[in-house]
Amino acid sequence: SPALRLTAWGRPPSLADVDVPDPGGTEVLVRVEAAGICHSDLHVLDAAPGALPYRLPFTLGHEIAGQVVAAGSAATGVADGDRVAVHGPWGCGECRRCAAGEDNYCHRRAELAFSGAGLGRDGGMAGHVLVPHPRHLVPIGDLAASQAAPLTDAGLTPYHAVAGLTLAEGAAAVVIGAGGLGHVAIQLLRALTPARVFAVDVREEALELAARSGAHRTLRPGPDTAAVLRRETGGGAEAVLDFVGSDPTLSLGAGVLRPAGSLVIVGSGGGKLTIAKPGVLPPGVSVSLPFWGSARELREVIALARAGRLRVETEPFPLTAAADAFQRLREGRIRGRAVLLP
Ligand code: NAD
Ligand code: ZN
Ligand code: ZN
Repeated sequence: SPALRLTAWGRPPSLADVDVPDPGGTEVLVRVEAAGICHSDLHVLDAAPGALPYRLPFTLGHEIAGQVVAAGSAATGVADGDRVAVHGPWGCGECRRCAAGEDNYCHRRAELAFSGAGLGRDGGMAGHVLVPHPRHLVPIGDLAASQAAPLTDAGLTPYHAVAGLTLAEGAAAVVIGAGGLGHVAIQLLRALTPARVFAVDVREEALELAARSGAHRTLRPGPDTAAVLRRETGGGAEAVLDFVGSDPTLSLGAGVLRPAGSLVIVGSGGGKLTIAKPGVLPPGVSVSLPFWGSARELREVIALARAGRLRVETEPFPLTAAADAFQRLREGRIRGRAVLLP
């Protein structure tokens, strides 16, 4: 069946026929029902040769949901027919972090030639995906796969980022970039914190989605945005979540924070921010670089969605139209998350 394969750096991925793998040992074979397209996939496609530790070729797709169809003899706790979301970060499987389901912070991360499904290992933009161990599977019951798939990253990553914040009544949170991750971040901030939520995006459509997602105030960035936000927050934001990570967004974030605030950098936009004392950041500010989230957090995200407290805005595409969907994401023509259906 067709799979979207990355075969050479700097070249677009292409659909190729691959054999359905046979699970052995602890492996579980999942028939893919949906696979989300993340902006990180574009960063991978655009990476210079040697910039990433991944070995080619591999199948893209790190936001996956589907159905268990076969398992190796050592794969316990799963049964054929189980509908699951795949916890995408895969680590060494042996360190303390991996044992705790925190493969995103695997101690051997720097030695591994992969970050997870579809990131150096064959992922879910295919008919099937081979998952190395059942600990990476989270049951989804009757949740739609087109919801469950993006929740594994566009849901999980903001959930982990928000979980690291303490936002009391009266606090302000600024979300920069209301795309796939950002619009879910806004919903999570509203569902889990009492913060007043400000959203900044360059696209009108994204600001409309931000408002529908619960943002109290939406703004297009301009030269006076930091000043406007400082004024409207009564002196600055307690938290800035940057889902872009470019030079202008990092400096906007730095200019909006109040003392002892939190700068949470999620986007891999290639920007730089100089940390210095004294420097551009107010006193007491914490800077964090969260990566993805844990298996336990994914269970919590799935539970929120099943309870109707979270909804990813999605645009479906057949897997055969992947090239078009990638191009639309690149051009900022996706509302919420694009999801591929094999
Ligand atoms: P996306 O393309 O769906 O959304 C990005 C949004 O940012 C868009 O709405 C775009 O209009 C907006 N934007 C772009 N430039 C802007 C600017 N200067 N000011 C304000 N808004 C701007 O992307 P996504 O899939 O949500 O991913 C966002 C970023 O997060 C990417 O860099 C991705 O690689 C990264 N990411 C990080 C993690 C992690 O674990 N840290 C996980 C997933 C994705
Ligand atoms: Zn991603
Ligand atoms: Zn590990």
